[in-house]
Amino acid sequence: MPADYFLPHISRMNEYVPGEQPREGGFIKLNTNENPYPPSSLVLRRLREACEEDLKLYPDPDASAVRRRLGEIFSVHPDETIVGNGSDELLNIVVRCFAGPGEKVVYPSPTYGYYEKLVRLQNARPIPIGFPEDFSLPQDLALEDARVTLIANPNSPSGTFVPCREIAGVASATNGVVVVDEAYVDFAEEGCVRLIDSYPNVIVVRTMSKSFSLAGMRIGFGFANRELVAGLRKVKEHYNMGRLSLVAAEAALEDVDTMRVHAARICATRNHLVQGLVDLGFSVWDSAANFVLARIDNPPASRVYAKLKERRILVRYFDQSRLRDCLRITVGKDREVAALLQALEEIFGEERGEGQKGPEVDSKAGGR
Ligand code: PMP
Repeated sequence: MPADYFLPHISRMNEYVPGEQPREGGFIKLNTNENPYPPSSLVLRRLREACEEDLKLYPDPDASAVRRRLGEIFSVHPDETIVGNGSDELLNIVVRCFAGPGEKVVYPSPTYGYYEKLVRLQNARPIPIGFPEDFSLPQDLALEDARVTLIANPNSPSGTFVPCREIAGVASATNGVVVVDEAYVDFAEEGCVRLIDSYPNVIVVRTMSKSFSLAGMRIGFGFANRELVAGLRKVKEHYNMGRLSLVAAEAALEDVDTMRVHAARICATRNHLVQGLVDLGFSVWDSAANFVLARIDNPPASRVYAKLKERRILVRYFDQSRLRDCLRITVGKDREVAALLQALEEIFGEERGEGQKGPEVDSKAGGR
């Protein structure tokens, strides 16, 4: 279709490229921050049972049962919660609700690449503010006239975490809304949900894609005061969650312990991974997530990425200047991490033996 049919700001947009999902099996997949462990067996049982139920009927547009359970677990009122088709949908709803054409949406950078797409879809103005080298919150992040400020905490791709009191400081200093994207928070020490009690402009967004091992079901949930939630609900698709997703979400919240066990295991493996990478000569940022960002320039990260892929191990290489020498590596099972470290040792041995020759990086690899 000729691009002329599109609104000019859509024509100008580049396609968003999510992380690679290989069609064939046989890969050790450490590139898209999925959980290596299966979801709770309760979720799987309830899903099987739900397949026998009436799928010809529409789902509950209010996700009432899930929101009730979220209320109990997080000590909030169900009216302070919203459920989405992945946290991506909730982020999408937020940006659509608050950012009009030409208005400012601020986020520290580098961060989750989908934010920029959401802002451009609105023909709003993305304002990325560079993180300092240690990925602490940029001093100049809070803009009084920003309509939305997006903060991934822990951040991706750095895995770094900032204390909630610093985010509260941003919420006090801006007149717009502040979204705390806590996709990875179950691998960190503290979350910011309680900020919604004191800050009427804070929205906290979470997902079941990472810690709950349910990326395939597309379940996100969010918290904010009732007025904000009521407004967000006007914009969401009325039947945004399928029946099966609602069943999975409810069961996952009934068995939070399984999630916690898996998250703790991942954090333990993360320590081994970090130590192994440091021993090989990588610099690694402190991670509070289920992945780490590791820097290496000799051999170049792009070549390490390509050589790992030849060995059927997928990690993430970002083709942007700030992250040029970096790989983002998802924490897999112990044996997957051991295989990665072994492969890296072989690659580094080859590089030292052969000089700097090797495959070039696949240019499509640099998406989000
Ligand atoms: N936020 C961040 C920071 C992410 O990395 C991701 C996953 N790519 C998401 C949100 C979206 O997660 P989902 O839509 O699967 O809930």
